[in-house]
Amino acid sequence: MSNPSILILPGDGIGPEVMDQVTRVIDWFGAKRDLSFDVSTDLVGGAAYDAHGTPLHDDTMAKAQEVDAVLLGAVGGPKYDDLDFSVKPERGLLRLRKEMDLYANLRPAQCFDALADFSSLKKDVVAGLDIMIVRELTSGVYFGEPRGIIEEGNERVGINTQRYTESEIERAARSAFELAMRRNKKVCSMEKANVMESGILWREVVTRVGAEYPEVELSHMYADNGAMQLVRAPKQFDVIVTDNLFGDILSDCAAMLTGSLGMLPSASLGAPMANGRPKAMYEPVHGSAPDIAGQGKANPIACMLSFAMALRYSFDQGDEAARLEGAIEKVLADGARTGDLMGPEGGIPLSTSQMGDAILNALDASR
Ligand code: NAD
Repeated sequence: MSNPSILILPGDGIGPEVMDQVTRVIDWFGAKRDLSFDVSTDLVGGAAYDAHGTPLHDDTMAKAQEVDAVLLGAVGGPKYDDLDFSVKPERGLLRLRKEMDLYANLRPAQCFDALADFSSLKKDVVAGLDIMIVRELTSGVYFGEPRGIIEEGNERVGINTQRYTESEIERAARSAFELAMRRNKKVCSMEKANVMESGILWREVVTRVGAEYPEVELSHMYADNGAMQLVRAPKQFDVIVTDNLFGDILSDCAAMLTGSLGMLPSASLGAPMANGRPKAMYEPVHGSAPDIAGQGKANPIACMLSFAMALRYSFDQGDEAARLEGAIEKVLADGARTGDLMGPEGGIPLSTSQMGDAILNALDASR
């Protein structure tokens, strides 16, 4: 049988720097764990624009549709700020999400004990936190029609439409319940059924899907209360499922519970392919960080944790994902820090590749 395939799109700014460390980890799994991947690399974002005049070449798009998983670094940078909207680096990313129909965005909020002091909340509220937000990514108010700014009488009116079909809600809900089955078997669905009809339908459909998963405990919460609960007692949650708009806000809120942008992975999943694996793209939450690009200062952990998500959700290698996460936890517990993780006590930060070295050493020690 051929190896599973991965398309790496490092992108711009710190994207290639953090992705270099992920490539070392991928090589390690091939050499030391007999877990090899067919890896190809291509351009996206500003790098693709520089080479081809477009932020995503059609050939790259076609490759992304064929592979088992796409790993993306980051796109964008000041050099491209004045480009026409249609060829801005971000358009490459949006095209990938749209044409792969990646409807479920998975944003974990996990707090490593060693970094609990970085949270704006009290240490005991966040230490050991491990929750997952599933945000519907392809519908809702960001896409609904009618939309626009129109003239009405003597003033202008801004219009956006929250619109969800049953099938769109159903597939997002199903992703959440499947995830919960691999975790602590709890789903909390968040909407505003008290004031929005789309919320009433959302609640109905999630409840219907939930009946297919009797082992999973389902609860419902109004999204405004959800925001309060996330900062009051986040450990009460396991999987949260919510729509595009609320998910955008709640996932950023949850992310900050855990400290640095350099630590946050994400996955975007779509429908299963012929081989049963979901269409999938994995990427760190952070951007291309032009302020530190090219200086070896970037934290590669968000990108590595994104690869750990690929191991778990695309390749069914939960144990190996846990091995990588464990190695990261170990180096942090031992005090390894890139610049973004330095506390007020200071010290000498590790470079991007030194953090990679430390994690590879910890992986070696884990065997
Ligand atoms: P950013 O995430 O790139 O950076 C915000 C801050 O966090 C910066 O100070 C940066 O140095 C720091 N930071 C981010 N990742 C880090 C890491 N791994 N290690 C250490 N420090 C890190 O956000 P921004 O500055 O608002 O945007 C910069 C560019 O990235 C823009 O062109 C923006 O459009 C683009 N962007 C891309 C994505 C993406 O590709 N998914 C996401 C957000 C922003």
